[in-house]
Amino acid sequence: SFHRILKEEIVQGEHLGRGTRTNIYAGILKLKSEDDDDMGGYSQEVKVVLKVLGSGHRDISLAFFETASMMRQISHKHIALLYGVCVRHQENIMVEEFVQYGPLDLFMRRQSTPLSTAWKFQVAKQLASALSYLEDKKLVHGYVCSKNILVARDGLDGEGGPFIKLSDPGIPITVLSREECVDRIPWIAPECVQDTANMSIAADKWGFGTTLWEICYNGEIPLKDKKLTEKERFYAAQCQLATPDCDELAKLMTHCMTYDPRQRLFFRAIVRDIDVVEKQNPSIQPVPMLEVD
Ligand code: ATP
Ligand code: MG
Repeated sequence: SFHRILKEEIVQGEHLGRGTRTNIYAGILKLKSEDDDDMGGYSQEVKVVLKVLGSGHRDISLAFFETASMMRQISHKHIALLYGVCVRHQENIMVEEFVQYGPLDLFMRRQSTPLSTAWKFQVAKQLASALSYLEDKKLVHGYVCSKNILVARDGLDGEGGPFIKLSDPGIPITVLSREECVDRIPWIAPECVQDTANMSIAADKWGFGTTLWEICYNGEIPLKDKKLTEKERFYAAQCQLATPDCDELAKLMTHCMTYDPRQRLFFRAIVRDIDVVEKQNPSIQPVPMLEVD
């Protein structure tokens, strides 16, 4: 179930980009407060993003609502808030909290001075805590990647450090094409490429491992120049991404990215392990990427 937002309660603004089958806009959500009367006035406005599934995609609106109802069950400081869903004529719209500094991958790539190890650890710990919360609630996210992590506070002045929020996963992979799934290598878990019905919490652990890689490598895109067939071969040959020059972190990453989903760590253990690794105070140094062949 999800909260229904009236089309009169939202104002659509600037186009921000495209998601999978969606268009994303900045927007305003007008809210009534408890002590407002029923005169039609709104006492509060919040900045939101509107994720619009166009009328051409009504065949997947059920899948879209599935994501929305999953997000509505979540209340966590490191997960973006979904206000609700709005049906506007033939369009379905997810109304989500606007997060100021945008997606983590772009944020990291924009930096001209290197992000500190402490900064990266904080982001990794916040993400792990969000995923540990989902694990406890037996909820599957489905698309953990740095593009779907939003930066709420940059923490570059050192005060308080960064603050991130995991965004919604977009439409479930069960309605994606084979090519779209293969293109999500190396974020999508190998068992999900074989059969999208294998989506599970274990698959989120794989995605977390890949995201950890992105964080270590400053938002670099893993397997960036690989064609779809090369990506398929990467999983078929059970290859691993190059791991950072820190044995403990590399071990943690590969523990999340084992090809057997049953061998992957619980997020609760991951949270603990990151703390241990951080206390050993390593510096996360990328090593050159290994080639697939
Ligand atoms: P998918 O994740 O399925 O590809 P999506 O609809 O979640 O689709 P994204 O690619 O995650 O789309 O987002 C598209 C762009 O919209 C991002 O690059 C970012 O600029 C912007 N954006 C998305 N969500 C937010 C948000 N909550 N706050 C600010 N900007 C956002
Ligand atoms: Mg997204």
